[in-house]
Amino acid sequence: RSFIESLPKAELHAHLNGSIPIETLQELAKEYTIDSDDGMSSTLPPDIQTGLARLQSGPTLYDINSFFPLFPAIYFLTSTPRTLARATHAVLDSFLGPTPSPSESTGQLPPSSPQCTYLELRTTPRATTALTFASYLDVVLAEIELYPPEKAALIVSIDRRMTVDVVKEIVKLTIDLKEQGRRVVGVDLCGDPLAGNMHEFAPHFKRAKEAGLGITLHIAETVTNPASETLHFLSWSPDRLGHATFLNEDAKAIVMRDNICVEICLTSNLLCKTVSTLEEHHIRHYLRNNHTIAICTDDTLPFRNSLPGEYALLLATPPLGLGLSEAEVERVAKMGMSARFGCGSGPGPSDDAVTVPDT
Ligand code: IMP
Repeated sequence: RSFIESLPKAELHAHLNGSIPIETLQELAKEYTIDSDDGMSSTLPPDIQTGLARLQSGPTLYDINSFFPLFPAIYFLTSTPRTLARATHAVLDSFLGPTPSPSESTGQLPPSSPQCTYLELRTTPRATTALTFASYLDVVLAEIELYPPEKAALIVSIDRRMTVDVVKEIVKLTIDLKEQGRRVVGVDLCGDPLAGNMHEFAPHFKRAKEAGLGITLHIAETVTNPASETLHFLSWSPDRLGHATFLNEDAKAIVMRDNICVEICLTSNLLCKTVSTLEEHHIRHYLRNNHTIAICTDDTLPFRNSLPGEYALLLATPPLGLGLSEAEVERVAKMGMSARFGCGSGPGPSDDAVTVPDT
């Protein structure tokens, strides 16, 4: 096994519907066109066909705004309990390898080599004609719980585009699930980085925190996110931050003071063009300051990346990568393991700062 393969690694920032293997999505599209009840075939709506074709060819992203329109085609194909279970099973399989005991409801998938040791998969509950928020979470959790607790857990995402009533309902559901002993470990804030009135969401995230759930927030993902919003989010006492690309000095000082782990998604940031080059990437600031980070993939479906590939970027010689040594990469992997919400914390980083080559 290679050095990267043999490292214990935690994937802490992966969106379920953004991480479905393309082959699974193609199978779901094919199955949709065959109506098993009357043997008649149906066709995918034209906008869904176009969306799927974009995902198959590897979408060109002009900026982060061309990223969110990729999801309606995916959502169309994962909107029933059966298809959602299939998609979840395939995502878990692609990150962790096959389940110890595959469920009846899922198809046969070829064994694959695991990308990580531990996965916190996140997803936004969706109500459809066939699913409620509660049944959505139940379907996803049932698949996650096929793995042992030291391998997989769920983070429930709250989309910034939701109404405050929906946020309230989903946070209550999440707390109830935790109290019933289901494998839910945290709450995330995600979605269009400029949508919504985040002051209205604050009491609900506070309630989740008080119930013992981990809090992670997509924060300062774009240059247009106002500094006042970033400081407001930091007042929610988050445990981890997604992206945190455009933090000002005041925000950085709080993040360092409170040792808040930053989830770093290198390929995602480069492809969505929120960061131009690895040389300018904010990971360098955190490496120099020996601050806890977690290396993550974000959305392997549109970005065509993998967790081992993200770690390979740390090792590769500049300008292709960051040029870290194997010992430094090992320390970074330990940081990720130490920032898990589930199954306690692993070994923390040592005191040595990671040296980042300047070029
Ligand atoms: P889901 O939550 O399983 O449906 O995964 C897809 C969803 O994750 C998208 O619709 C977005 O709301 C969210 N998402 C994925 N990547 C990002 C990101 O980089 N920033 C904010 N939200 C994201």
